[in-house]
Amino acid sequence: METTANSLVTVEKSKTSKIDQVDFDNLSFGSTFSDHMLVCDYKNGAWENPKVVPYGPVSLDPSAKIFHYGQSIFEGMKAYKDTEDSTWLFRPLDNHKRLNISAKRLAIPEIPENYFMEGLKTLLKVDEKWIPKNEGSSMYIRPFIFASGNGFHASPANEYKFMICLAPSGAYFSGKVKVLIEEKYSRSANGGVGFAKAGGNYAGQFYPTQLAVEKGYNQVIWTDDNTHEYIEEAGAMNIFVRINDTLITGPTSDRILDGITRKSIIEIAKDENINVEVRKLTVSEVVTAAKDGSLKEMFGAGTAAVISPISGFGYKETDYDLPELKEGFASLLKKRITDIQYNKAEDKFGWRYKL
Ligand SMILES: *Cc1c(COP(=O)(O)O)cnc(C)c1O
Repeated sequence: METTANSLVTVEKSKTSKIDQVDFDNLSFGSTFSDHMLVCDYKNGAWENPKVVPYGPVSLDPSAKIFHYGQSIFEGMKAYKDTEDSTWLFRPLDNHKRLNISAKRLAIPEIPENYFMEGLKTLLKVDEKWIPKNEGSSMYIRPFIFASGNGFHASPANEYKFMICLAPSGAYFSGKVKVLIEEKYSRSANGGVGFAKAGGNYAGQFYPTQLAVEKGYNQVIWTDDNTHEYIEEAGAMNIFVRINDTLITGPTSDRILDGITRKSIIEIAKDENINVEVRKLTVSEVVTAAKDGSLKEMFGAGTAAVISPISGFGYKETDYDLPELKEGFASLLKKRITDIQYNKAEDKFGWRYKL
């Protein structure tokens, strides 16, 4: 094993590479992993130096608190190749900030910015050959922190692992998404952890989503836990609704995650002179708009799919279809954001970050 080091991050290279076994023309999402990963341990009240090591299993004690008390948070981001073979990240410091917002809520120690950024950059440089170059493909990056410390006492762990894994991924075509507006279950509540990217938020979503799938829908539209009258998120994405020519999304809160795609779309839409309203959105106004034809588009927004158009929704045993628009806001906004991500267009917002 070759070992190199910079001042903060050490690198232990894998002896062999799996890259020749990968079909880069047929990558699915998040199921192929690169040769290396980043591992950084928190022990005795401090983060130790991050290490790039060969990708592989992690050994944990059965009493590790992640298994019992769910102290687990993550981020999702991407690296993009442009036609000149340069690598770009998109607003990576925002992912670092949000990881620490999640950490605080789950009583997990915060990770310093240079550990996150230097660790990420070193890992991406070691596995740079793994970043897909095909149109629409990218390197999906998964930073995460979990409680590795032991013991059945219900209290925060005293040891944690911060890790980053890289998953080269093909273009994400979600197809037509038919959604069910949720009337019973909730993904988040006031005072809860809905604004954090906590693993448990996803665990809680799976069962209601299974029920929706059994009824013939692909995803759940989450409504507020108290009244189920307000539209909040689309699965694990933020949601946008277009009524006539106004684009509406709910305000971030305890219950709605502050998505980086969401806030970028808001800025790009304003730049396109689209009328954007960030306000509470009721189920009844969306149903009324669907009935009178003023509901033009609905779409989810998040890093993995960027924008995922919704073809129709179900509510109270009735299905509503959306019109098929060739050139709606969704396609326009997706093109503008991905052109910035892939360095195909000017980035007047300063979001691109060169590796
Ligand atoms: C990650 C996530 C999003 C999207 O956030 P991005 O920063 O745009 O990827 C939206 N909603 C939930 C619940 C999420 O977990």
